[in-house]
Amino acid sequence: MTSVANAPAATSTSPARGLICRACGAEYPLAAQHACYECFGPLEVAYDEAALARVTRAQIEAGPQNIWRYAALLPAGQDPATRVSLDPGLTPLISAPALAAAIGLTAPLWVKDDSQNPTHSFKDRVVSVALTAAKEMGFKRFSCASTGNLANSVAAHAARAGVPSIVFIPADLEPGKIIQTAVYGGELVAIEGSYDDVNRLCSELVETDEFEDTAFVNVNVRPFYAEGSKTLGYEVAEQLGWRIPAQVVIPMASGELLTKVDKAFSELVEIGLAEAPEGGWTVFGAQSEGCNPIAVALHADTDVITPVKPTGIAKSLNIGDPSAGPYAIEAVRRTGGWMDYANDDEIRDGIRLLAETTGVFAETAGGTTVAVLKKLVASGRLDPAKETVVYNTGEGLKTLDAVAGQVGPTHTIKPSLRGAREAGLLG
Ligand SMILES: *Cc1c(COP(=O)(O)O)cnc(C)c1O
Ligand SMILES: [Zn+2]
Repeated sequence: MTSVANAPAATSTSPARGLICRACGAEYPLAAQHACYECFGPLEVAYDEAALARVTRAQIEAGPQNIWRYAALLPAGQDPATRVSLDPGLTPLISAPALAAAIGLTAPLWVKDDSQNPTHSFKDRVVSVALTAAKEMGFKRFSCASTGNLANSVAAHAARAGVPSIVFIPADLEPGKIIQTAVYGGELVAIEGSYDDVNRLCSELVETDEFEDTAFVNVNVRPFYAEGSKTLGYEVAEQLGWRIPAQVVIPMASGELLTKVDKAFSELVEIGLAEAPEGGWTVFGAQSEGCNPIAVALHADTDVITPVKPTGIAKSLNIGDPSAGPYAIEAVRRTGGWMDYANDDEIRDGIRLLAETTGVFAETAGGTTVAVLKKLVASGRLDPAKETVVYNTGEGLKTLDAVAGQVGPTHTIKPSLRGAREAGLLG
């Protein structure tokens, strides 16, 4: 442990009481530590339940129009002056009756459109919380290993805060995601390898003296990063009038987002802020066929994840060795849900179906989730008569190549009435 990592973590008003091992339950003080010294299990933030229980709907509703309205339920950022943030959140929850009809749902269907964040993916939520915690702990440089969207967000947050950044990505990312990271002016290191290779290198770098002052949002400050995902659960409940939906369908890379939406729902019920639906909520997970280790483990009725070498167009979800996989399986089993995966053609169809029925253009991750929603309805795993929320976590302009060969002008004409007539536009 470095001296920076031992610095006090949060202001006195944070409801976080420490870090707890998800595997063995060992507890640690709040610090930049992500693995248990006893069993090497992953750590997550534990809260002072009495502090959480004091939070009221009125307090949240009077807060800012972004994730910081939930600051009293987060481990960092209670003092606005310490925030490192593009102020993401409060993205639209869109009613999607045409999509529901197209896939055979009879109950209300909603799209939580998190492409409408400052860098156009849900990663702004986790980065704002992680980097705020990192700043509170005294780190001087921001970093991450990324499948694309995290890189965009870390580089942008660092630029806004005036803090240097160094971001690590696989060299074969979509050009849009590389440019959208590089434009913010930080250091950008492309690595000839997979995301899992990038992540392993970052785990080694973080132990070196040269990186002692560097916060890797998804390595040494990962427990804080992960908590930012809870806001995607809080928000949906608040936007439904403090009601938790019966079913949610969530894309999975590491599997963390899925576990934290479930955690958010549990917290809201425990502290009396939201009502659970009759019979409880059910969580569903979506992966791509090119990277489906969590879904395959669930289907094989095990929680031992066998890592894969990812392929396919859903690059933002391409984590072959997903750290939160077993916990995602636990949440899905406990709530009576299921996981499935979609191949590249189904993902493209999912992107187009969502666009054509709701006016929302998703990146490949959103196409994956819509495609899996469709499969879950067809297989009878998801109840078409129960209210459902499907999460779109990223923006279609980031992965234009996915559908570029499939859509284009329906007509190309001369600029004249004659041209219009010849194309059949005038009957
Ligand atoms: C990172 C990411 C996810 C999933 O994140 P995990 O928490 O690692 O499962 C989903 N969608 C998009 C677009 C992402 O960038
Ligand atoms: Zn442990």
